[in-house]
Amino acid sequence: MRLAIYPGSFDPITNGHLDIIGRASRIFDRLTVAVAHNSAKRGLFTVNERVELIRESVRAIGNVEVSTFEGLLIDYASDSGALAIVRGLRAVTDFDYEYAMHQMNSEMSPEIETMFLVASKEFSYLSSTIVKEFARYGRPVDNFTPPAVSEALLKKFGH
Ligand code: ADP
Repeated sequence: MRLAIYPGSFDPITNGHLDIIGRASRIFDRLTVAVAHNSAKRGLFTVNERVELIRESVRAIGNVEVSTFEGLLIDYASDSGALAIVRGLRAVTDFDYEYAMHQMNSEMSPEIETMFLVASKEFSYLSSTIVKEFARYGRPVDNFTPPAVSEALLKKFGH
């Protein structure tokens, strides 16, 4: 059973994340989308809300499950028996941090591979932050997020 972990904040999940999930789920037997509990970073959505939004959005994909983790990703990946960590790369701005994290993780647990999937062209500019910014001021974001997320954003911002 080849398991991979796709970790992130997912505050909230966007079509860019969903694209990576679909592509990674075709490479591995099982994919766990893991929402990080980060006490230093308060999100718009609670971790539980993010999990629910991801669950709704990946329902049609059979081999994907959703979970949360606290602490170091590499420890979580190790304890789960994962073969790989999947990350998406959009632009060079993603690269420095991802490169450093990959080097550190492979020092700590060389048996766990980090796999980078390059963002599809149509999603390469898309981030949770930019979606929230537009939704906050009442712009519809239906083209950029799964339906459950557009609805949740409308509710959150009271539009
Ligand atoms: P983090 O706080 O860990 O960066 P994010 O939720 O912002 O969490 O992103 C999770 C992962 O998804 C990261 O690897 C990020 O580069 C990737 N990602 C985010 N947006 C996109 C996108 N539009 N296309 C492809 N990958 C993306």
